[in-house]
Amino acid sequence: MQVLSVTPEIFPLIKTGGLADVTGALPVALAGKGVAMRTLIPGYPQVMDAFKKKKPVHHYPLLQGGKASVHAVQIAGLDLFVLDAPHLFDRPGGPYGNAIGADWPDNWRRFAALSQVGGDIAGGAVSGYQPDIVHAHDWQSAMTLAYTRYGKAVGTPSMITVHNLAFQGQFGAGIFGELGLPAAAMALDGVEYYGGVGFLKAGLQAAWAITTVSPTYAQEIRSPEFGMGLDGLINMRSVDLYGIVNGIDTEIWNPETDKHLVSNYTAKTLKARHPNRTAVEDRFNLDRDDSPIVCVISRLTWQKGMDILAAVVDGIVARGARLAILGSGDAGLEGAMLAAAARHRGRIGVVVGYDEALSHTMQGGCDAIVIPSRFEPCGLTQLYGLRYGCVPVVARTGGLADTIIDANEAAVSAGVATGFQFAPADSGALLHAIRRLVEAHANPTIWTSMQRQGMKADVSWDKSAQKYLELYRLLLSKRAV
Ligand code: ADP
Repeated sequence: MQVLSVTPEIFPLIKTGGLADVTGALPVALAGKGVAMRTLIPGYPQVMDAFKKKKPVHHYPLLQGGKASVHAVQIAGLDLFVLDAPHLFDRPGGPYGNAIGADWPDNWRRFAALSQVGGDIAGGAVSGYQPDIVHAHDWQSAMTLAYTRYGKAVGTPSMITVHNLAFQGQFGAGIFGELGLPAAAMALDGVEYYGGVGFLKAGLQAAWAITTVSPTYAQEIRSPEFGMGLDGLINMRSVDLYGIVNGIDTEIWNPETDKHLVSNYTAKTLKARHPNRTAVEDRFNLDRDDSPIVCVISRLTWQKGMDILAAVVDGIVARGARLAILGSGDAGLEGAMLAAAARHRGRIGVVVGYDEALSHTMQGGCDAIVIPSRFEPCGLTQLYGLRYGCVPVVARTGGLADTIIDANEAAVSAGVATGFQFAPADSGALLHAIRRLVEAHANPTIWTSMQRQGMKADVSWDKSAQKYLELYRLLLSKRAV
């Protein structure tokens, strides 16, 4: 089975969030199940630098304002089509914006181009390659399914995975004329959305199947509270809506072999976590003592509930926990966290920035990880936490609700608890969860059991990849009909 995946990010080449982890891991997990997945990505500078120029497999004399070509390459074990379009992608900064984080004003053009190329490849533009299925991710590649539907590849089964419904790619109607789609596409059942063009909306409308990254989030987005204006459409498409929890790369995230750890360990040698804990204390200027270190590894944003956390840091310290915070994002929240660290020297430490290596050390050394998200399509950091014996404390929403077993009395006595859930996502409930955590941490039997139980949980891609495979098969059977 040949699947063409189209995505704006893929680990290890370019990553701003969990989407990249998923698109990087899925081809590997599916390869063992008879699926050959090729991934189309933009030729950002770091992608173009990662391979020696080869003969392109397809040329565009003019693609959204400039020359472009498609290269078929293998990088880091991934089969890729790279869209080399310097006028769109050869820029400093991030994949979506400049160095200070402002979105590129022509993002619609950049990702329409990516999507058009996805549609063209699905339609046979690269000789010798014909995918059976097209799989798009998030708004940046969602239009692939519109180009598929209104182009040569109209009969190709398609899937869109929504990693976060909050980002939708909505643009003014004025761009429609430059998309190269037939006039009929500018309709309620096409790409039109509230008078403009909605990229994600277009993908949701055109996809044969819609998946999101956890069963709970798949239900939540049918409600106005989580649907972000698209709940009407999602409800209309609910028979084709599926929730599949993400896995993680259990080789990269393996406490037994992780090179970022000062000390490697297994569920049987949890005491060997201690040197990692000391490394965290040193890096975050925390006192050395036996109180639990609760960490944060996150974008500092409203979605992640970082304001909820900032509002109760004093209470958390008062209850006897320490905080190690790694993150960047909203300037106000960065400031609030730094101010908290200044108020509570030795009890709260903050590193502003993105640091993959440090995130590993923290999972391997901290006692718990707190994730107070207002909504969380899946979430990965709680899965890393499970695998590393870093007990997750999570808001009961989306994938957090699906992957953590709350330490209520019944779960604790049955020995199945893996973390703490709280609801609603507010400061009072969070503080209550921290109190439960501090109590549990003081009981080594309960705490060790929770760590071990978490480390036993199957967080690999295997089960989830199997579910994607079953969905692909279902789509192929629909094509046959
Ligand atoms: P989202 O994709 O919404 O940001 P996820 O939990 O799905 O949230 O994925 C976040 C990913 O980014 C995880 O791999 C996490 O470890 C990583 N991450 C987030 N912030 C940082 C940071 N400041 N430093 C290092 N890694 C980070």
